[in-house]
Amino acid sequence: MTPVRTEGWPQWPPPAGEEQRERLLRVLESGEWGATAGSETESFAAAFAESVGASYGVCTVNGTVALFLALRALGVRPGDEVIVPAYTFVASATAVVLTGARPVVADVLSETLHLDPAAARRLVGPRTRAVMPVHLAGAPADTEALRSWGIPVVEDAAQAHGARRHGRAAGSLGVAGCFSFQSSKAMTAGEGGIVVTDDRRTYERLWSLHNVGRRRDGGWYEHPELGWNLRMTEFQAAVLHPQLSMLEQQLAHRAARAATLEAALEEVEGLDLIGPPAGTTRHTWHLAMLRYAPAAFGGHPKAALLEAMTAQGIPLDAGYRSLSRERCTGGGPCPVAEAAEDTVVWVRQPMLMADDAAMADIARAALLVQQAFRQRPFSR
Ligand SMILES: *Cc1c(COP(=O)(O)O)cnc(C)c1O
Repeated sequence: MTPVRTEGWPQWPPPAGEEQRERLLRVLESGEWGATAGSETESFAAAFAESVGASYGVCTVNGTVALFLALRALGVRPGDEVIVPAYTFVASATAVVLTGARPVVADVLSETLHLDPAAARRLVGPRTRAVMPVHLAGAPADTEALRSWGIPVVEDAAQAHGARRHGRAAGSLGVAGCFSFQSSKAMTAGEGGIVVTDDRRTYERLWSLHNVGRRRDGGWYEHPELGWNLRMTEFQAAVLHPQLSMLEQQLAHRAARAATLEAALEEVEGLDLIGPPAGTTRHTWHLAMLRYAPAAFGGHPKAALLEAMTAQGIPLDAGYRSLSRERCTGGGPCPVAEAAEDTVVWVRQPMLMADDAAMADIARAALLVQQAFRQRPFSR
């Protein structure tokens, strides 16, 4: 059998540009490799914050630590609880564990797989100190309801660089917005993260906590707060800064591919693109999540679909397991997120950087797989 697609997929991150090379070399030759010596990190933090309409940014070693730092700056402590959605990367929960608090897992909405505000509301108790919506797949979660509770909203925007809800940027929808620059993300330096905020006091705390408890105008060995070295390097900032001006074009590219994919999948019964929450004004398409209906594919389970698609040159991704099944979390069963384990597959960001013909290949391969599956229905 010749696979539907033999030519592979774009690499991520894309090849480095001239400005990235120049900035990186400048840092290398300056000898100022750390953020306490050079100015790349501060200048990137300011530029990134501005790009999301926030006043301040603090760069960190990664996105998990950005979430930890934001929670800690807002006073989350051992014994507290933080509400997180069940369908997300495990770091949304483990960042809470780092503070000593307990992640309490709320179920997600079946149409979007985003945090279900009503389910989250039911889990609010006397120990709830924050709620963490996740801008899953690059579409901002509904944060309006959460904000009205008077509990700090910390956004996990790790997948949502450039996303907008009702015209407002992800990262500026809560008290603090946290992004990741890990290899798979829309902006990347291999690793890295940032917390953005509009609140001056929160910013001062973020800055101090990520810089071993120092104060801006204090001495090198003065540590009025308990803090850690969670700083990004100048190398990372140099690689990241030029990506701010590349982002718009990449987002437009992926949005066009997602539209093509959605249209192409209309020909395939039982494999549908999952749309963003109402109110999304820009989806970044970090992922295109697809809902798989085994009944339309001869009853074959999701694992069989993934295997057959990979054989056709289309490496779809199995996606998350529900966090309700992780031992470090509380909150009880989450039927919607748990069902998603068996029915949701992903097309990842690098695949959406390919061309329209590639999107047609995905649908064509799915049709072939469907035909084959229907000819020999699944039996245990
Ligand atoms: C990537 C990611 C994180 C963690 O970021 P790292 O930089 O890998 O630590 C957290 N939450 C979500 C939703 C993510 O996708």
